[in-house]
Amino acid sequence: MASTSFFRGIRSNYWMACPFSISNRRCGPYFCTLQSSKAQTVPHKENIQGQNKVQERTSQSISRKPLEQIMHGYEAIIGIETHVQLSTTTKAFCSCPYFYGSRPNTNICPVCMGLPGTLPVLNSKVVNFAVKLALALNCELSMISKFDRKQYFYPDLPKGYQISQFDIPIATKGFIDLDLPVEFGGGHRRFGITRVHMEEDAGKLLHSEGSYSQVDLNRAGVPLLEIVSEPDMRSGLEAAEYAAELQRLVRYLGVSNGNMQEGSLRCDVNVSVRPIGQVEFGTKVEIKNMNSFSAMNRAIDYEISRQTLLHSQGQSDQIVQETRLWEEGYQKTVTMRKKEGLADYRYFPEPDLPEVVLTNDYIENIRRSLPELPEAKRRRYEMMGLSLQDVLFLANDMSVAYFFDLTHENGADAKLAANWIMGDIAAFLKNEHLTIDEIKLTPNELANLIASIRDGTISGKIGKEILFELLSKGGTVKKIIEEKNLVQIVDPGEIKQW
Ligand SMILES: [Zn+2]
Repeated sequence: MASTSFFRGIRSNYWMACPFSISNRRCGPYFCTLQSSKAQTVPHKENIQGQNKVQERTSQSISRKPLEQIMHGYEAIIGIETHVQLSTTTKAFCSCPYFYGSRPNTNICPVCMGLPGTLPVLNSKVVNFAVKLALALNCELSMISKFDRKQYFYPDLPKGYQISQFDIPIATKGFIDLDLPVEFGGGHRRFGITRVHMEEDAGKLLHSEGSYSQVDLNRAGVPLLEIVSEPDMRSGLEAAEYAAELQRLVRYLGVSNGNMQEGSLRCDVNVSVRPIGQVEFGTKVEIKNMNSFSAMNRAIDYEISRQTLLHSQGQSDQIVQETRLWEEGYQKTVTMRKKEGLADYRYFPEPDLPEVVLTNDYIENIRRSLPELPEAKRRRYEMMGLSLQDVLFLANDMSVAYFFDLTHENGADAKLAANWIMGDIAAFLKNEHLTIDEIKLTPNELANLIASIRDGTISGKIGKEILFELLSKGGTVKKIIEEKNLVQIVDPGEIKQW
C-alpha cells in the first residue's frame, strides 16, 4: 500500500480557489471512460474559450464567496458512479494478465481483441470479488444474474459492444457508513448504494500530436465493478469521503488496489442544485476527470457554486444537461460535451455466457472470509476510548490498523500505542517514504517500549531514542537498553553515589 494513503487528508476549500491559479497547474492524466467518444480527449481550446459570458462571470464571482453564503436557500444533490478495476490475476473473460504500465498491446489475445469466432469464459474470481464487495456494501445479492451486451462503437472497444450487466445486476440496495473528518466537524453519514454490477473495461486510445491516434488493448477485458450510489451526498466533502471509504473497502477486501492515479478507481459525479423545499431535482450535470479525493471535493463545490449562482441570478436555464471536465490547473469545471438525450445501447442478454448462479453456501463462505471492515474497526476503536481523530487515522489503512491491534494485543495501552503510531512512527514513515509494513520495528517491541517507559525502566526521552533505533535498525528494546546502559536510575541513594 502506498505510503501516501497513510497520510490521506482531504483538503477543504470552502473558499473557492482562485480559478486562475495557473502556478498550481498539475498535468495529471485525463480519465479514460468507457462510453463517450469524446471522453478521452482533452477539451479543445475553443471549447474553453467558447464559454458564454454568464459562465465567465460566474467563475470569477464564485472565487470570492464562501460556499455556505452562496448556498443559502439551496441544496445540492450528488450521486456517484464508481468504476473499480479488480486486481484479478487474469482478465474477465480470457487468460491474459494485466499489469498497469505494460508496453502497449503486450497482454492481449484473440478473445480480448474481439476477433470473430472467439468465446468468452468467465473468470470465477470476478464473481468472488463482486460478492465480497456487495456483502461489504450491505447489498442484497441476486441469486441469479446475467451478463448483457451494451452496444456502442469506439475504436478501443474491438467487439463493438461491452459485456456488462443491465437489468439484473449481481447486487442492489446497499449502503455505506462513514465518519466525516474531525477538522470538518465530524459526524456519521450513511449513503445508499443503488447497485453493483460486473463488466469489462475497454482499451485505451493514445492521441498523438499528428492527425492519428493509436490503440492499446492491454486494458480491454480487464474486470470492473461499477458501484452506483443513491443521490445522497450534499457537498463535495461528503462525496469525497464516500469515495475514500469505497477505496478503503476495496483495499481492505483486497479486490482492487484502488489507486485513482492509475485509474483503478474512477468516479463520475452527478451534481444538481435545487431551492430548498422543491421536490423535483434540478438539471443534472456530470463531472469527470478528478484523480484525487481533494480534486473531487473542489470540483463538486465549484460546480455547486456555479449552479447555485445561476439559480440565484434567475438564469437556471443556463444549466444544461452536460458532461463537464474538472480543469485542475484552472480550478474550474468546463463543458466537455452537451448531452443529446439518452444513448441507445440496445442491451440484450449476452448469448455466449451462462447466467451467474450463486448458492447460499458460496455466499456464506465468502461472508465468513471477510476481514473486519473499516466501519466495524472504527466502532471497536471508539469503544476502546480513542478519540474520533485517532479512530479515523488508525482505521484508514488496514496495515496501520493491524500494527495497532497487534501492539495492543501485546499489552500496550490503546491510547499510548495510538500516540506513538500517529506521532513519531507516522513522521518517520513520511520522511523515509515507507509504509508501516516496511519498517523494522515490530508491534511486540513497540509494546515492550511502552511498558519500559511505564514501569520507569527508561525515561520518555530515552524511549524516543530507542524508538528511532528500532525503526531504522530493528532489534529488541531489552538489548538496546543493555547495550547502551540506558536504564533510568530512580533510586535517590544510587544517584547520590554518582
Ligand atoms: Zn486476452
